[in-house]
Amino acid sequence: MAAPMIHHRGPEFGRIFDRVARASQELFATREAVMILAAGGTGVMEAAVSNTLSPGDCVIVVEAGKFGERWAEIGRAWGLQVHGIEVEWGRAVDAAAVEAQLELHPEARAVLVQHSETSTTVLHPLEDIAALTRERDCLLIVDGITSVGVVDAPMDAIGIDVLVTASQKALMLPPGLGLVALSEKAWQFNACAKLPRYYLDLAKERDSLGGHGSAYTPAISLIKGLDAVYDLIENSGGWSEAYRRQDLLARAARAGFSALGLRLLAPESPSPAATGVWLPETVDGGGFVRALRDVMGVTVAGGQGRLRGKVLRLGHLGYQDTFDVIVGLAAVEMALARAGAQVELGRGVAAAEAVLAEMYRMAE
Ligand SMILES: *Cc1c(COP(=O)(O)O)cnc(C)c1O
Repeated sequence: MAAPMIHHRGPEFGRIFDRVARASQELFATREAVMILAAGGTGVMEAAVSNTLSPGDCVIVVEAGKFGERWAEIGRAWGLQVHGIEVEWGRAVDAAAVEAQLELHPEARAVLVQHSETSTTVLHPLEDIAALTRERDCLLIVDGITSVGVVDAPMDAIGIDVLVTASQKALMLPPGLGLVALSEKAWQFNACAKLPRYYLDLAKERDSLGGHGSAYTPAISLIKGLDAVYDLIENSGGWSEAYRRQDLLARAARAGFSALGLRLLAPESPSPAATGVWLPETVDGGGFVRALRDVMGVTVAGGQGRLRGKVLRLGHLGYQDTFDVIVGLAAVEMALARAGAQVELGRGVAAAEAVLAEMYRMAE
């Protein structure tokens, strides 16, 4: 990525772009084109909406966290009629609630949901929701920003109509790339979608894929980085192996926090991307997360929105590995003791190590 810049219309970049576009289809598990845009995650979320819907369209949004709220905000900003399903933060949506909204609003043109709601560390039941949208004239639009590359979610097989992700989560890159794919059904919606679009015009990007690669100047360095990421994954067992590693890290984190006596934020349907826990009420969450970072040099995430100051989230996706989980737990244990909470040092780490030992049994 730090190599001298190459021209995006030259043969060298053309080969890289073709390779990356094909590997992205493998990652999404789709026959359809994956468009790679110079945009952040929210940019491709917005493109998912503006390329498939028309002003005044009715959409159903799963609001189970900060990013669910973002879908609703994007919908309203684009003049859609948004019907939200409010879900308690920390819980997954019940597909029956989605079905009830679809019955109530049979004119709904799309259901918008996160696969992994990063703010609450919840995984939503995509298969069950897809079973509802598949047989209706309604799209399933999915924010897969912390699920693509983390959990096996084959786009075509599940019946996801629009899937988006971004470079800075499981893909281990700096921010700045957005990836998005549309199902055949979503392309049909696109053909009559009347919301305005110019830069983030997915049909234009799709039509450029076979020729120049991208409609406008792409984020060349990031795409070269993505090429290297796909190589790295291929040389370490492919995506199926990555999903197994992710699951193991997530189970280790949950076991570790539980052994420490911290309550999981999403006990019923946890995301394998990050693990959230409630902090003891005696602990000021904001100060706790800051102290971890500034005093101990370990960065975890605090709570967002209504969870601010109450929870911490340990990310274990992408570049995070076995010993990052151990370090994270060790730092939390020590910081809890420092904050005067009841904690038995080493307990969380021991429980996580017992789970992580599987990794090394697997490797033999
Ligand atoms: C990080 C994240 C986003 C936001 O992506 P940006 O690149 O910051 O716009 C959206 N949805 C989910 C689920 C995320 O984890």
